[in-house]
Amino acid sequence: METKEQKRVKIEFVSSTDSPEFTHLTWALKRSSVVGLDAEWKPIRTQQSSYPTVSLLQIACRVVPRLSDGDGTDPLNDSLVFLLDLLAVPLPLVWELLRDMFISPDILKLGFKFKQDLIYLSSTFCSQGCNAGFDRVEPFLDITSIYQYLQHKQPGRKVSKETKSLATICEEVLGVSLSKAVWHPLVPSKELQCSDWSHRPLTEEQKTYAAVDAHCLLEIFTVFQSKAIKEGSSLHNSIELHPLNAALGLKEILDKPGVLGPISWFLCRNTIPLDDALSKIIRKYGEKIVLKDSDRKPRTTRRKGKRQSSVGLICKQKQVENCSDCQGPPPWDLSLGGDGCPKFLCDVMVEGLAKHLRCVGIDAAIPSSKKPEPRQLINQAHKEKRVLLTRDAKLLRHDYLIRNQVYRVKSLLKNDQLLEVIETFQLKICEHQLMSRCTKCNGSFVQKPLTTEEAVEAAKGFQVIPNCLFDRNLEFWQCMDCNQLYWEGTQYHNAVQKFIDVCKLNE
Ligand SMILES: [Zn+2]
Repeated sequence: METKEQKRVKIEFVSSTDSPEFTHLTWALKRSSVVGLDAEWKPIRTQQSSYPTVSLLQIACRVVPRLSDGDGTDPLNDSLVFLLDLLAVPLPLVWELLRDMFISPDILKLGFKFKQDLIYLSSTFCSQGCNAGFDRVEPFLDITSIYQYLQHKQPGRKVSKETKSLATICEEVLGVSLSKAVWHPLVPSKELQCSDWSHRPLTEEQKTYAAVDAHCLLEIFTVFQSKAIKEGSSLHNSIELHPLNAALGLKEILDKPGVLGPISWFLCRNTIPLDDALSKIIRKYGEKIVLKDSDRKPRTTRRKGKRQSSVGLICKQKQVENCSDCQGPPPWDLSLGGDGCPKFLCDVMVEGLAKHLRCVGIDAAIPSSKKPEPRQLINQAHKEKRVLLTRDAKLLRHDYLIRNQVYRVKSLLKNDQLLEVIETFQLKICEHQLMSRCTKCNGSFVQKPLTTEEAVEAAKGFQVIPNCLFDRNLEFWQCMDCNQLYWEGTQYHNAVQKFIDVCKLNE
């Protein structure tokens, strides 16, 4: 890699189809073999019945540059980033251009978790006068796949299955911190990420932030490309200098006043031969994004309980690590059509917490299988409208599937965990709720207490009622699900007292 100072990103803001910038975009797309795509949308603060409206689409083009006397800078590090203002440009007028780009076999599309962007883009175009949205991006390469490939290539390195943020990948692959890069403003990226992308005019910082997010995809790909090319000797031979055909009509660019100062164009060593090498890469590693009908409409759970905070899911999913707190209404909230009864699903790591929750009368299920896959947990939580409680940070990255329904418990001890959940979800615990639920199976008790005689009868065959209980006129309760019998013995009273203390009911 060259020193970072030599990277140049030329940014063009496209806000009308009559503008020279738009002409330039059309031109650039015809001459780009690789584009990096990213989109921004306005953060959603309340529950909405549709997807967010995408307000900006960033397209970083690696345009084949003209012959030039070059100054030694790597041409692969320079790129042209178009910021397509979807709030200003009439969407039906750009639909075809974008659709063609998405499906053109001659353009490799790069993205980071771009499926979500595509879903939102598609819905934005549909809702604003376009008959169709977008349903596929092909050929496509996800930066996460590239990253995983690069990790495999490092001997002795353990491949992490964890999803890294784009910033982390940039740092690891390019050795550049997105927020500290010379071409990046010194504004915390998270702050910008969550800034209001529907506000116009965008600040220079917003524009640069948006452009860099798309541009860095090209850079990561460049690293990958050179590794992949070195792999196959057949590819290797074809990457020698072939400066012919590189002098494409760049007059338009050079005649235009540069947005960020002059841009240099360099001798390109990857024109025609690279197309060959590139198509080999695409054949070997290429992916595609195909949207199904079910992707096009927000699911109820997606719609429900969007976070109210400005940080987290309502922003892009690119910094999953930061999204550890549920901050919107939970799925049982009345405002979301829920029944008001809190329901949880406790991951195996917090099974003890499940028992504690049941002790205070809260519905707390455990996974239906012994060693559940993350997807199974997510499905169960979704189906039963539960909040998944876990200590596994990795599960949080599935949070986008069931918004606001995964919560990472921070406390280590059961009592502290219980209090944490009660406070986080503002659960109202009354004394009469204590010991009102089967701690064994989470079932509810029969409506009326049983007498000792009835209890002995009911317990026959699976539970022994100690003789010492017989003359004490106790009330017995039976679980309707597993038939377990409970009675108000000494242990019961001790437990009630304990939970009164833990839940601070007498304060
Ligand atoms: Zn039970």
